[in-house]
Amino acid sequence: MARILPLEAALEPALDLLEAGQVIAIPTETVYGLAADATNGEAVARIFETKGRPHFNPLIVHVCDMAMAETIAQFDETSRRLAESFWPGPLTLVLPLRDGHDIHPLVTAGLKTVALRMPIGFGRDVIARLHRPLAAPSANTSGRISPTNAKAVDDDLGAKIGLVVDGGATNIGVESTIVKVADDGVRILRPGGLTAEQIGDVLGLELGRGGGSGIEAPGMLASHYAPDAAVRLDASEVRQHEALLAFGPHRVTGAETATAMLNLSPTGDLGEAAANLYAHLKALDAVGASAIAVEPIPLDGLGEAINDRLRRAAAPRGDDILPE
Ligand code: AMP
Ligand code: MG
Repeated sequence: MARILPLEAALEPALDLLEAGQVIAIPTETVYGLAADATNGEAVARIFETKGRPHFNPLIVHVCDMAMAETIAQFDETSRRLAESFWPGPLTLVLPLRDGHDIHPLVTAGLKTVALRMPIGFGRDVIARLHRPLAAPSANTSGRISPTNAKAVDDDLGAKIGLVVDGGATNIGVESTIVKVADDGVRILRPGGLTAEQIGDVLGLELGRGGGSGIEAPGMLASHYAPDAAVRLDASEVRQHEALLAFGPHRVTGAETATAMLNLSPTGDLGEAAANLYAHLKALDAVGASAIAVEPIPLDGLGEAINDRLRRAAAPRGDDILPE
């Protein structure tokens, strides 16, 4: 069990632990993060160790303002416009590292680029006080469901970390959208809490999807966000011994036979569905069903990120795939 402190009591203890090179769990508007000083190699190594995360999978660097961001990365005009429009918020920009930056190379897995984000709330406050950026992936064991409340963090990593800052349930519920601006256009490397439509509206263009050559966002290719139960997508019926993850007002055939059922959003609201996604998956997993059938969820807006996470939750888990 970690010490769990409410926001009001957490700032000074959090700073002490971060100064000492420890990792702590903090709330953000997306999911809970496992944070450490991004300039301290030992601290960053503790993140990988605590999560069991492979070292080739780079971490997102969190900043409190543009001045800090500019010491780390070089902004092109489009990236700057996106930062101005959506920071603080659920947008991560992949940018070239600036000469003389002080991010430890473990954070970027040796890449010449860095993934940068400015979070809303406690994380931003603690970074401003620390005067250093934080590396912070989601606060879960690698490959497992991301936590959207303090208890979920404590259940998974409580034995390994000293402090969980409790900011209640996160608003957005899925990770940030990762965007890279390249010569040939603007691409979403990972869909997330900021929709393609929102970004497209600001830029006045259509966004591409996926990396160029090579693995730019390894989390995208992996079995990930996975409960113990098998996950079956776009279910049109509930089979024997299955639990049901429902969406919207209408049920699929056999819903009444499900071993348990939770609805992501009875009214069909994608924002509500994103916020409930991980907690509902975790709760259905806890009833011990062999599989979770998932009703179809629209692909527009936040549906893109929800379907992305569910596809990875449903992906085969073997040695041939790359866990995050
Ligand atoms: P997580 O911290 O678990 O939300 O995952 C971070 C995601 O950001 C992973 O999919 C990383 O591969 C991706 N990422 C971090 N740094 C970079 C980078 N420099 N270029 C591309 N993707 C990155
Ligand atoms: Mg993660």
